[in-house]
Amino acid sequence: MNRILAFIVVASLAACTQVPAPEAGTEVTTSDTSQVEQVEGDYCQTEVFRVDANFSAANMASCTIVDARTVEVFLKPENVPINISPWYAVRLTPSQQGDVRIVLRYEEHPHRYKPKVSFDGQAWSVLPESRVDVKAAGYRVTLKLSLTDKPLFVSAQELFTNAAHNAWIAAQASKEFVRVSQIGASIEERPIYGMWTDADVEAPKTVMLVGRQHPPEVTGALAMTSFVDEILGDTALAQEFRSKFDLVIIPNLNPDGVEHGHWRHNMGGIDLNRDWGPFTQPETQAAKSVIDQIKEPGLVLFLDFHSTRRNVFYTQPVGNDGTEYGFTADWLARARSNVSDYPFGREGAHNVDLPTSKTYIFERFGVPAITYELGDETDREVIDATAKVFAREMMSLLLERET
Ligand SMILES: [Zn+2]
Repeated sequence: MNRILAFIVVASLAACTQVPAPEAGTEVTTSDTSQVEQVEGDYCQTEVFRVDANFSAANMASCTIVDARTVEVFLKPENVPINISPWYAVRLTPSQQGDVRIVLRYEEHPHRYKPKVSFDGQAWSVLPESRVDVKAAGYRVTLKLSLTDKPLFVSAQELFTNAAHNAWIAAQASKEFVRVSQIGASIEERPIYGMWTDADVEAPKTVMLVGRQHPPEVTGALAMTSFVDEILGDTALAQEFRSKFDLVIIPNLNPDGVEHGHWRHNMGGIDLNRDWGPFTQPETQAAKSVIDQIKEPGLVLFLDFHSTRRNVFYTQPVGNDGTEYGFTADWLARARSNVSDYPFGREGAHNVDLPTSKTYIFERFGVPAITYELGDETDREVIDATAKVFAREMMSLLLERET
């Protein structure tokens, strides 16, 4: 379980600082290609080390010094009620080397995410279980960490910051067939980007992908980038698919939540994936504006990328995804035979009465609208490889059945 994640987000993208203006006024903000951007905040300093959360996607509510080698980190959600997604991310900056302890103190919900550690915010590994002591039903978790001469990041998941999202978007936008445009802004006025590709045929159908409504759901974001990389790749299948279908992608719908290390909500304290229908928030309004512009004959498939405790697809009920041929069952069956190392479930009745993206899209368009959920701790290499399988099977099935 302690395998190296080797998660390199932006290392090769440092040169991509601007989108080649595919539409007027559009420029993706990638001011900092480092994973770790500084922001102001509180910290705890002992003679041995300093603990802070003054960087993008960090979160600790407060901290207290127990002794020179032990600091308690208190964790609180942005507001309540809230799902059990207790995010944390702190940095330990050493003055001396050797073992120290961080005690995670949870106030609302207990420990969920296995601690990940990194020296540079880019290459991560799971902290060995022998160094994690879970007590008080998960409300008090002690991490034993070894300081070197370098800062050490400790986080619920590897950091996938807005800068990393935007660098990835900028890299996609360097392809001549990809358009990028700002579709709106978050409450704190961070840009929300859309990406499009345009088919060559008359009246193409559209596939839409959405990601990062929920900030801690990093594995969902990892799957989305791999999935999209496959569709925007140069294989014959991908080229044929893009020639026959329009594609619209919103990679990061909750940049404020990502920036602040939120457990789930936007700066309005709202779960964005309970606002599809009400559309009370600028982030979901931006998504709706994109949907409203989709041309006839309209959407044929909608996928929304998330994470939960296991790999699962939340779908429409079996036999009722709006397609006569049963896209959902066929897609998942075809993929399953090619992803033996990726066990996954399908649930056809998850949150059907709540205003999620899945419910909104299916009720409005009557097409498959699927929540693609990755397990929190699913192997990252498996996520990458299998997301590409799901992308290929989606493309070939839609080409067979929808053209
Ligand atoms: Zn989610």
